[in-house]
Amino acid sequence: MNYILFDLEWNSTKDQKNGKYVNEIIEIGACMLNSNFEEISYFSEVVNPVLGDKLNQYVKNLTHITQAELDAARDFKSVIHDFKKWCKKFGKDTVFITWSNTDLHVIVDNYNTFLHKKSVDFINKYCDLQKYSNRFIQTENKNQISLSVAAESLGVDTSEYALHRALDDSRICAEILKILYDEKIFPAYVSNVSSGDFYKRLTFKPYYISMLSSPLVDKSHFKLNCPACKKPAKRLSSIRYRYKAFNCTYVCPSCKQKYQMSVKFKKTFDDVIVSRAIRNVKTSETK
Ligand SMILES: [Zn+2]
Repeated sequence: MNYILFDLEWNSTKDQKNGKYVNEIIEIGACMLNSNFEEISYFSEVVNPVLGDKLNQYVKNLTHITQAELDAARDFKSVIHDFKKWCKKFGKDTVFITWSNTDLHVIVDNYNTFLHKKSVDFINKYCDLQKYSNRFIQTENKNQISLSVAAESLGVDTSEYALHRALDDSRICAEILKILYDEKIFPAYVSNVSSGDFYKRLTFKPYYISMLSSPLVDKSHFKLNCPACKKPAKRLSSIRYRYKAFNCTYVCPSCKQKYQMSVKFKKTFDDVIVSRAIRNVKTSETK
């Protein structure tokens, strides 16, 4: 099994044609590891942006990529063509790895914008290393751990690397993979990109259902048993949608306690996730 760890730098810019914001790729970096996790090849190239020809200050400060480097670079079409050629040398079984799936979103976006393709045709297998690492690294905010924090928590000395440059970030990912690789666990985190609904899933944005009449709203969630005495509470108000939730008030016929309940229905790609919050209402709060 081979691994290609890749990383992108990008500049957020407005596509004047359709008014949409695009994270336009300005650098592609990648390193390729063999099954012993030895780097046997790498790819690194700055990309000349065509939509936003000036770097925003944030990106400039973060990456230290200079305007002169960009001006001298080739455009996305040419660079991605060579990147693809480089990737294909290592065979179809190669697992592509990024830190969080943001870079995958960005490459899909750029494929869409510049090549008018919906999918990245050279990636067959994909793993989000941030998600995989979450299994091993204890942090408070599990989804947001940055590459440098993860690396340092594992004892990787990041001072030798230029952080936020694509090739070096991909090499830090490689260090993390080497440390955390577990042959029993890792395969479960590898998705088969070429089959089924991978891209639909990737680009799906979860949302809160706001229509009570939606077939996805299971009305049984509006039944409430009194949290104190467990007897069925009586609904006092109509159900109103406010702040992403359906809200209504209840009274317990036995304890006379009033409750306010809010129910959220969050649509994810596969499911509807229901969450309920119940609080006591003081008599003085109701009309
Ligand atoms: Zn009660």
